[in-house]
Amino acid sequence: MLVDNLLQHAQQKCQQAGGRFTDKRRNILDNLIKAKQPLSAYDLTELYNQSNAPKIQPMSVYRILDFFIEMELVHKLPTLNKYVVCSHLACKHNHQDQYFVICKACGSAQEVTMNAQLTQELSESASTVGFQITDAQFELFGLCKGCADKTNI
Ligand SMILES: [Zn+2]
Ligand SMILES: [Zn+2]
Ligand SMILES: [Zn+2]
Repeated sequence: MLVDNLLQHAQQKCQQAGGRFTDKRRNILDNLIKAKQPLSAYDLTELYNQSNAPKIQPMSVYRILDFFIEMELVHKLPTLNKYVVCSHLACKHNHQDQYFVICKACGSAQEVTMNAQLTQELSESASTVGFQITDAQFELFGLCKGCADKTNI
């Protein structure tokens, strides 16, 4: 899907939720959509400042990213302290639980829908030690298809 289409969907989602889609927000999201790999807030600050004046501060980028996370347009990868655009940016359905598979060779990250049964089993398993899971965040490391194919040649 074209970047412009994705931005349009993002704008709609923001506006439906009563949030403004400012030029700064649009620009940050645009850079994250175009990125081949997860980016940190500092990467995004640098990208923004390369082509915009006045410059933006990292603190503002963090705030913008928090807004996008709240809107479910962006996800944070806590292990890497980096961000990726939600792969369901243009979808109409409710966002389900997700996990990420991250390639150790090329650094790409892909969002995978967590099946409800697995979430349920994890909750039951954690409850055996009296624990209640509130935030299930998973990042699994391995090789993406492209990199696995290369190593198999
Ligand atoms: Zn998502
Ligand atoms: Zn979807
Ligand atoms: Zn890879």
